[in-house]
Amino acid sequence: MCVFCKIVNNEIPAYKLYEDEDFLAFFDISQATLGHTLVIPKKHFSDLLEADSETNSKILPVVKTVTNILKSKLNLEDFNVISNFGKRAGQTVFHYHIHIIPRYDHDDFEINFRPNPLTKAEFEDMMNKIKN
Ligand code: AMP
Ligand code: ZN
Repeated sequence: MCVFCKIVNNEIPAYKLYEDEDFLAFFDISQATLGHTLVIPKKHFSDLLEADSETNSKILPVVKTVTNILKSKLNLEDFNVISNFGKRAGQTVFHYHIHIIPRYDHDDFEINFRPNPLTKAEFEDMMNKIKN
């Protein structure tokens, strides 16, 4: 059984902020920034692509609720909301989860959208692949 399924089943402890019938939110053990929280479906799916449509349609309102809890209780304003899927994307726990990462002045969390300029031909090549 995966580590998050064990948290769902109360086999290992977690700091749970929110729970309903289908979802659970708890503090990430690594605390990339203070208040770093994970939202997971209780049912095991490896990621967003594996999860059923009902789970995917319900999870974002839960993320909003939990973000609002962090905002009001910890007096936070800014957040990154991200989900890694696949090991190249940094996924280490293969149970679908969405990170809520509060942002602070001068914190050291970084998402770097480094520009990677493509030629017109390269953009068009991608567009052709998508349309075909
Ligand atoms: P990811 O790298 O997107 O797969 O994120 C997995 C996250 O799960 C990491 O940020 C870990 O710190 C976190 N994590 C792993 N085990 C636990 C645990 N037992 N309780 C809370 N968070 C955990
Ligand atoms: Zn699991």
